[in-house]
Amino acid sequence: MDILLNTADHYAMDSLYKHVPIALEPYFADRDHAVRQCFSLWLISLVGVNILYFLFSTLSYYTLFDHRVMQHPKYLRNQIWREIQLSVTSFPITAAVTVPWFFFEVRGHSKLYYDVDEYGWAYAVWSVLWFLAFTDFGIYWIHRAEHHPMLYGWLHKQHHAWKVSTPFASFAFHPLDGYAQSIPYHLFVYLFPMHVYAYLTAFVIVQMWTISIHDGAYFTQHPAINSSAHHTIHHLEFNYNYGQYTTLWDRIGGSYKRPTAQFEKEMFFDRPSVSNNLKTTANILHEKQFVPLGTNHSDSDGIRGRKGALAECD
Ligand SMILES: [Zn+2]
Ligand SMILES: [Zn+2]
Repeated sequence: MDILLNTADHYAMDSLYKHVPIALEPYFADRDHAVRQCFSLWLISLVGVNILYFLFSTLSYYTLFDHRVMQHPKYLRNQIWREIQLSVTSFPITAAVTVPWFFFEVRGHSKLYYDVDEYGWAYAVWSVLWFLAFTDFGIYWIHRAEHHPMLYGWLHKQHHAWKVSTPFASFAFHPLDGYAQSIPYHLFVYLFPMHVYAYLTAFVIVQMWTISIHDGAYFTQHPAINSSAHHTIHHLEFNYNYGQYTTLWDRIGGSYKRPTAQFEKEMFFDRPSVSNNLKTTANILHEKQFVPLGTNHSDSDGIRGRKGALAECD
């Protein structure tokens, strides 16, 4: 985080803090003042999470997201707007409670290091794998604990409003829920040495992974990977597939449920209400000659429909 903080100081913060009221100058004139560092870290986190969220969720929405999800009976009215609303209102609070982790990193209390030679290349590669294994374990148990009746209602229920999710649901949590599930990422670098660039890269990649398990693109039903299909089962049925990247801890914890080909059929085509809705929409659009069957459609959210899938239902 000190790399990001120094860069931000150089390009933005020094200029920005020249305009603080005189009473606040003692706290913001010196780059090393704790108040200035904490405020800057909060701003960097807030801007960073918004960029990651909107950039990768939007990319996923237009490239990978299976738009048939939006025809599902459990897809809420204006759901994407509601997902975005919850995300952006949670970010400032999540960023604020995360600041202490970053602040003590900047002050040199973490085990992040800069010189690869310090531990060698083999360790640098191993640390990334260990980071993924450690956070996979941590997130599984934190997520599972959040389903305990003492925590679920006030902490995690908001994320389960989305019975079928979109990429924009990926960060749509109660602010402390998002924070709780990020603790393993931050804790790791206080326990184990990790190269700073490996950490920043891994951090971005795990955010992309979180988006990918909400995009409904069922690339794989591989039993070892916690895919979008697995996480959709979690959103629909609550008590299965709490995992993040792998199904290891679900298997050990007895909460694993494998998606089947039948599951995907039921998600999209075998529910009478779904297939009827799809047929109706397709026929209306076709009869009114708004669009030919098999091309993109618009819905009440103003969002593009799926490509070609409507024609398959006729
Ligand atoms: Zn859950
Ligand atoms: Zn989810």
